[in-house]
Amino acid sequence: MIGIDTLVASAETDAGSWDETGLPVEVVEAAAKAGVLGLDRTTDCRGLGLNAAELGSVAERLGAVCTSLRSLLTVQGMVNAAVDRWGTAEQRARWVPALATGELLAGFAATESGAGSDLSSVTTSFEEHGPDHRITGRKLWVTFGEVADVLLVLGRSPAGLTTALVETDALGVTVEPVSGQLGMRGARIAHIALDGVVVPADHLIAPPGFGLSHVVGTALDHGRYTVAWGCAGMARGCLADAVAHASTRVQGSAVLSEHDSVRAILGRSWVDAAGARALCERAAEQRDAHEPSALFTTIAAKYAAARVAASVSGQAVQVLGAAGCVPGSRVGRFFRDAKVMQIIEGSTEVAELQIGDYVLGGGVR
Ligand SMILES: Cc1cc2nc3c(=O)[nH]c(=O)nc-3n(C[C@H](O)[C@H](O)[C@H](O)COP(=O)(O)OP(=O)(O)OC[C@H]3O[C@@H](n4cnc5c(N)ncnc54)[C@H](O)[C@@H]3O)c2cc1C
Repeated sequence: MIGIDTLVASAETDAGSWDETGLPVEVVEAAAKAGVLGLDRTTDCRGLGLNAAELGSVAERLGAVCTSLRSLLTVQGMVNAAVDRWGTAEQRARWVPALATGELLAGFAATESGAGSDLSSVTTSFEEHGPDHRITGRKLWVTFGEVADVLLVLGRSPAGLTTALVETDALGVTVEPVSGQLGMRGARIAHIALDGVVVPADHLIAPPGFGLSHVVGTALDHGRYTVAWGCAGMARGCLADAVAHASTRVQGSAVLSEHDSVRAILGRSWVDAAGARALCERAAEQRDAHEPSALFTTIAAKYAAARVAASVSGQAVQVLGAAGCVPGSRVGRFFRDAKVMQIIEGSTEVAELQIGDYVLGGGVR
C-alpha cells in the first residue's frame, strides 16, 4: 500500500502543523487517492475490498501518527457503511462508489445540544413537503463538516427516528467551523444549521423509524471499530516516543531509563497497550467471521483502547516532562486527542453499562 506508506510518512512530519491549520485539502485528496476513504467497501463499489483485520491495521497506522487523519477514515467509513448496508440498490449505486473514492466527502450529523450520549432525544425535524422532506435543526460537532459534501443526518419524522443524506450545498444549510477544541484539532469540525432544507424522498436512508436503531447503529459500530484501532495506534506511538526519550535524556548523572519508576511506567504502558490491541484483534476476527458477538467485542475494544490511549499518552507526557508540553509535541497532541476518544462513539461510562449488561445477560463466558 504505497499510497498509505506515503500518507503515514507525511503525517509523521506534518501532523503537528495540521493540528494547527486543519487537515489541508491536498492531504484529504492524497488519502482518497491512497484508497483510505473506501478501504473496506468492495472493489465493485470502487473500494479496496479489505477485510476487518486489514482495515484495522490501516486505522492503527494512521492513528499512530495523526488522529485527525484517522478520523477522516472513520467518518467516511461510518457513513458509507450505513448507506451500503441500508440503502436501496439505486442509493448504493449513487453514493457508495462516490464516497469510497472521495469524489464526495461525508459528515455524520447526529449530535445536538440536547442529544449526545442519548441520540434518541434528537429534535431535528423531518416534515413532509409534497413528495419531499423538509429538515430543520442544528447539528453539533460534525467531524469534517467544514468540508463535507454530504451529511448523514439523524432526525425525527412522524414515524420516528429517521436518517437522510443532505447535500451541504442545499438551500438552508449553514456550516459554522469550530476551532480551538481540546483534541482532533485538524479534523475540520463544524456545527451545522439546517433551516428548512428540502431533500427528495430518495435521500432517506432506510424507512422512517429505523434511523437510529439501524442506520446510525451501523455507522457507530463501524466508527467504534476504527476508533479502537486508531487508539491502539496512538498508544503505540506514545510508548515509542516515551521509550526513545527515556533512553537518551540525561538528568544529573543518570539516563531517565535508569530510574526504576520510569521503567515501571514504560512496562505498565506496554502491557496496557498490548491488552487493548488484543481486544481489537479479537473484534477483527469476530467481524471477519460475521459473528454476532462482534458488536459487543467492538464496544469493548473501543472502550479499552480509548482508556489505554488516554493513560499511555498521559504517562508519555510525564516521561517527556516539559518536552511533552511544548507546542508541537506529539505526545502532547495525542494526550488531548485521547481524552476526546473517551467521549465520542459511545462514552466510557455508557460503554461500561453496555458491557456490564452484556456480561450479566450471559453473553460472555
Ligand atoms: C472532537 C469531537 C468530534 C465529534 N464528532 C462528532 C461527529 O462527527 N458527529 C456527531 O454526531 N457527533 C460528534 N461529536 C459529538 C460526540 O459524539 C458527543 O460529544 C458524545 O456523544 C457525548 O455527548 P455529549 O458531549 O453531549 O455528552 P453527554 O451525553 O452530555 O455526556 C456527558 C457525560 O455524562 C456521561 N453520561 C451521559 N449519559 C450517561 C448515562 N446514561 N450513564 C452514565 N453516564 C452518562 C457521559 O459518559 C459523559 O461523561 C464529536 C465530539 C467531539 C468532542
